[in-house]
Amino acid sequence: MEYVEYLKNNNVLLSSVINLIDDLIFYKDKDFKYLGCNTAFLNFINKSPEDMLGKDDFEIFDHDLATTFRHNDKLMLAKGHVRTNEEWVTYPDGRKVYLLTKKIPFEYDGCNIGILGISRDITSLEKANQQLKDQALLDELTSIKNRKAYNLKIKSLLAGFERYNIPFSIISIDIDDFKNINDNYGHDVGDKVLQRFSELIEKHIRQTDHLFRIGGEEFVILSESRTQADVVILAEKLRETVAKITLLSDINITISLGICEVIKGDDANSIAKRVDTLLYQAKSHGKNTVTYQT
Ligand code: GH3
Ligand code: MG
Ligand code: MG
Repeated sequence: MEYVEYLKNNNVLLSSVINLIDDLIFYKDKDFKYLGCNTAFLNFINKSPEDMLGKDDFEIFDHDLATTFRHNDKLMLAKGHVRTNEEWVTYPDGRKVYLLTKKIPFEYDGCNIGILGISRDITSLEKANQQLKDQALLDELTSIKNRKAYNLKIKSLLAGFERYNIPFSIISIDIDDFKNINDNYGHDVGDKVLQRFSELIEKHIRQTDHLFRIGGEEFVILSESRTQADVVILAEKLRETVAKITLLSDINITISLGICEVIKGDDANSIAKRVDTLLYQAKSHGKNTVTYQT
C-alpha cells in the first residue's frame, strides 16, 4: 500500500474511532475557533458542524459559559501541558451537567498551538458522590445531622468567632430517664420516641440553629450568631414544649439542657466540657431544667 493511501485509511479509521467514543472531543485553533469535534460533542450541544466550525465559544454559547470555557483554555495554554478540571456547567437549554474535562495543547500547521479537549459527563457519578457525602453526615435513625457533622460545624463556628468575633451558643440536651422508656415499652418504641423528638425540635428552631444527635439520647444545638441570653429563651421554650407534648401514644418525656456561649480561647473540647458540666447540674437539680452560667 502506498504511504499516502495508508495515511488516508488511517485517518478514516481514527475519525471512526473518535466518533464512536461517548466522551465529547473537540479541538480549537490558536484563536479559540473550533477546528473540529466528534459526533458525541455535536449531539451533546445539539448543533450541526456548520453551527460551530470556525466559530468561537462566544458565538456558540451564552456569555457566562463561553467565559468559563475561555478561562480554562487560557489556563491550560499558560501551563503548556495537560490540565484537568471538573465543574458544573449549565447549557443554554437549561441542562445542568457535571463535566470532567481534560485539555491539552496540540500543534497544527507546523507552528501553531491549539487546544484539544475531551469532556466526560460524570453528572450521575458526582450526584452519587454528593449523596454519599451527605449521608455520612446524617444520623441513620433520626435523619438529623450526626456527631461528625457537629465536629465540622463547631470547627467552622470557632473559626468565625476567632476571625470575625461572630458569637455562637451551644445547647446540650439529654432526655431524662430514657432508660425507663426502653425498659417499659421496648427498644423499638424508644427509637420512635427519638425520631419524634428530633422532628419536634427541628420544627421549633430557626435555620441558623443546627440540631445534631451526638449520642444515644444526647443532642446538641449550635446556635449561630446567638448570645447566651437569647438562647436561654429558646431552651426554656423547648423544655416546656417537650414536657407538654405526648410524643407517642401515652409517652411523655422531659429533657435537661445545659447552655453556654463561646468565649475567647475556646476550642471544641473546652466548650463541650463546660456545657456538659452545666447539663450535669441540670440533672442533679431534679431534671426537666435549663442550666447556664450566670
Ligand atoms: P438521665 O435522666 O440521667 O439522663 O437518665 P437516662 O436513663 O436517660 O440516662 P442513661 O445515660 O443512663 O441512659 C440512656 C439510655 O438511652 C440507655 C440506652 O439504652 C438508651 N439509648 C441510647 N441510644 C439509644 C437508641 O438509639 N435507641 C434506644 N431505643 N435507646 C437508646
Ligand atoms: Mg445520656
Ligand atoms: Mg438521659
